[in-house]
Amino acid sequence: MRAYRGKLEFGPGPGMDVFAASFLPRREIVFDSDLLAHAPDFVNIVAHEIYHFVWRRLSNAERKAWAAVLQKEKRPRHTGLSSEIRYRPDAPQQSKAYICEAFCDTAAALTNPNAAISSQRRRYFSHLYNKRRLPV
Ligand SMILES: [Zn+2]
Repeated sequence: MRAYRGKLEFGPGPGMDVFAASFLPRREIVFDSDLLAHAPDFVNIVAHEIYHFVWRRLSNAERKAWAAVLQKEKRPRHTGLSSEIRYRPDAPQQSKAYICEAFCDTAAALTNPNAAISSQRRRYFSHLYNKRRLPV
C-alpha cells in the first residue's frame, strides 16, 4: 500500500509505502492487512492514526503549544518514522506536516511504557490529558 499524490494506491508504483492512511473528512482509517501479523506495530500505528483525528480538533492554542515544545528541541528524539522523515534540521521553523506527525508519533509512543520520550513532550501530553477528554 502506498500514498501517492494524496491518494492511496495498491501494488507497485510511485509514492511512499505506508501501513495506514487516515481520511479525516470521511472519518475513515485504512490499514494494510500485513499489520495483523505484527501486533506491536499495529497498536502503535492505530494510535498514530487516531491521533490524526485528535490533532484536527485541537484548539489553535493547543497546536501552538505543541509547536513551541518542538521548537525548543535542539536535537529532537524522534518517536516515529512519520515525523523523522519530515524533520528538517536546518529549517528555522518546522513544517505543519512535521508538527502534526510529531504529535501523532509521540501520542502513539506513549502507548509503550518503555518508549524514549522527552520530558517536555510527556509534560505536554500530561497537560492535554488532564485538561479534558481528547476530541476525536
Ligand atoms: Zn501520520
